[in-house]
Amino acid sequence: MSYPTTQLLIDGQWQDAADGRTLPVFNPSTDQEIGRVARAGKVDLDRALVAAQKGFETWRDMPAIERSQIMRRAASLMRERVDANAQLITQEQGKPLAEARAEAGAAADIIEWFADESLRVYGRLVPARGNLSLRQMVLRDPVGPVAAFTPWNFPINQVVRKLAPALAAGCSMLVKAAEETPASPAALIKAFVDAGVPAGVVGLVYGDPGEISSYLIPHPVIRKITFTGSTPVGKQLAAMAGQHMKRVTMELGGHAPFIVADDADLDLAIKIAGAAKFRNAGQVCISPTRFLVHEGVAKAFAEGLTKRAQNLKVGDGLAEGTQMGPLANPRRIEAMQKLTEDAVKKGAKLLAGGERGQGAGNFWQPTILTDVPMDSQVLNEEPFGPMAAIRTVKNLEEAIAEANRLSYGLAAYAFTSSLKNADLLTRRVESGMLWINTPALPSAEMPFGGIKDSGYGSEGGPEAVEAYLNVRSVAVMNV
Ligand code: NAD
Repeated sequence: MSYPTTQLLIDGQWQDAADGRTLPVFNPSTDQEIGRVARAGKVDLDRALVAAQKGFETWRDMPAIERSQIMRRAASLMRERVDANAQLITQEQGKPLAEARAEAGAAADIIEWFADESLRVYGRLVPARGNLSLRQMVLRDPVGPVAAFTPWNFPINQVVRKLAPALAAGCSMLVKAAEETPASPAALIKAFVDAGVPAGVVGLVYGDPGEISSYLIPHPVIRKITFTGSTPVGKQLAAMAGQHMKRVTMELGGHAPFIVADDADLDLAIKIAGAAKFRNAGQVCISPTRFLVHEGVAKAFAEGLTKRAQNLKVGDGLAEGTQMGPLANPRRIEAMQKLTEDAVKKGAKLLAGGERGQGAGNFWQPTILTDVPMDSQVLNEEPFGPMAAIRTVKNLEEAIAEANRLSYGLAAYAFTSSLKNADLLTRRVESGMLWINTPALPSAEMPFGGIKDSGYGSEGGPEAVEAYLNVRSVAVMNV
């Protein structure tokens, strides 16, 4: 199967790095190098910054209806190219083709939703006090060129959730996507180029993440930073942005509680737990990780989830019937090994998995741990892998206290058939997103983001566009 060399996009031109440097790209199912990606240096970044400023001025001044039409064309191209783009995602990231297809297809939907939203970026006229000749206006203007840093777990989705609302607001965006998964974000951005987005409105670079972020964030051209990734890196980047008074959106790590009350529909809870836990091999910021199950149903829940884990078909994402692919890189295998050993040493019971999978790639068996002690690493650090840690709780209050114990606050799930419980959970669980009796629903129209150490800002709904707008007050006296 073919896999392209990924170039940089600077000022509307696909190109190699000025000094010709590249980085290798690996297929996580085979551990083989499958291609190369251009590695930008300072010369490339400077050219990309000049282009981003020029692109911003062009895009800002284009009528919203024309911007919206270009975005709609990009969405159509993404829909036409779903199969080819899905193959790229699976080759470089590892997830099963069906999941990759869903990700590539969702991009079209997200772009369309924000293309519509771009037509509704309104200001307001505020009646003046006393003098009727005074016109007071509230304007909402694009913040300017944005620098976006995105990770490897959803190589298209993580970019489009930033790019679509930024373009809807009238901003240009310079994307630094993940070096481990470069071809699929490039395919997304190609759809915008092919749809007619003017040169410089969107740029794409790859290279050394620390080098690029420490150059772009302080740079005077860049007016806003948006990052998705781990909490420690997010804190560093937010601090740097703060020193330079740059606007920031941070979509960081999570450690999602999955609460099962004694009155829950257990079959539903097990079905949703199994699907959510092993999707993308658990490498999802909203993946359920801490299973807090009422003691009356804990045994049945653990057995049900274990059966699902053991029946999963793990393998190359391109192979027919694969339900879970490899982890994206060897670092995640090391993390799984460390977390399993630590939990078992401290007294947890291993009900499934806990070992590498077969084959040369980064395979890890779906893992279920129960009776996991509170001080084990897996209950305190984001696992970011196919690992479920189950703990028994005596009541809902105990589950909520455990859910809120960590500094994370991204996603939470709960299962109960009582309105009273649902109301208590809604009021007390500290998370940016809470799903009760339902799988996660991260649609374009709903806000997506965390609180506490999981970050701030939203990547869905009208709030996502707000994040790219400045509010200005203007008064004009008619003299
Ligand atoms: P990492 O912290 O090294 O990197 C996470 C992401 O941040 C990567 O895309 C990386 O390129 C980028 N990054 C790292 N340092 C950077 C810097 N100085 N400037 C700009 N970008 C930088 O971790 P990793 O091993 O790649 O991934 C594992 C951890 O990352 C997980 O435990 C998880 O917490 C987090 N993660 C979160 C998400 C998410 O969706 N929120 C996605 C991927 C990874």
